[in-house]
Amino acid sequence: MTSPKRRALALSPSRASDYKQCPLLYRLRAIDRLPEDKTEAQVKGTLVHAVLEEMHGWPREERSYPAAVKRIKPAWEAMLERDPSCAAPIEDLHQLFVDARTLIRGYFEMENPSGFDSTEQEMYVNAVLPNGVPVRGFIDRVDVAPTGEVRVVDYKTGKKPLPRYSADAQFQMRFYALVYWRLFGQIPDQLRLMYLKVIDSMFLAPSREELEYFERDLGDLWNKIESDGKAGAFRPQKSKLCGWCSFQSLCPAFGGTPPPYPGWPGSVADEAN
Ligand code: SF4
Repeated sequence: MTSPKRRALALSPSRASDYKQCPLLYRLRAIDRLPEDKTEAQVKGTLVHAVLEEMHGWPREERSYPAAVKRIKPAWEAMLERDPSCAAPIEDLHQLFVDARTLIRGYFEMENPSGFDSTEQEMYVNAVLPNGVPVRGFIDRVDVAPTGEVRVVDYKTGKKPLPRYSADAQFQMRFYALVYWRLFGQIPDQLRLMYLKVIDSMFLAPSREELEYFERDLGDLWNKIESDGKAGAFRPQKSKLCGWCSFQSLCPAFGGTPPPYPGWPGSVADEAN
């Protein structure tokens, strides 16, 4: 029996953040691809993203708060049909719907979606940067103004981090700005993170120099991942975040043993060569 073809690797903001937190965590998620239980927060985030994505596809005059709220239940049913495991972390379905409604209310407090048309929602990006780093991910929303300015938007359904903990959020936005620039030749004029729960935004306006610098950093990070991956040597790196790690029982830092290393699966950049 032949084993299924393994997926070539590419860097996304989440996987980059995993490696920076703990190289072994990166390995177990990205290379071993061990299953993990979904959390309630993840499921709620997916549900709200699905409703907002659908709503932005409607004619302008239909994009209202009550109409969006009516789509929460059907969006939930569609999610369950695609992936029944979404139900596992949900103890109180009514509360999930109430929370989703509050987040959508937060969205409408921050923006009037009937005043503009977004250009892309849940835009899948998949590219190899000029420095050889393979990248992929989903951009929640891209708005191109009639005058040509580009805005990249990301919805956050969790709480807004304190400024000193906002590095991950800024990393994610710069990542997508860089990818957008390299794919379409235009640096986004604005990056906006919308924190729906607290009705607040974080804005960035990246310069070319900033993105070039960021690209070099990403290159360094990818080189480290590739070198660990080819050597099969991803070290555990303990931190306060270990408390949220699904893999403690397999982690040598906690007395566990990881599964045998399945080998470096190659990257999207290797396939492109
Ligand atoms: S428990 Fe901590 S050190 Fe171990 S894999 Fe998870 S994040 Fe890394």
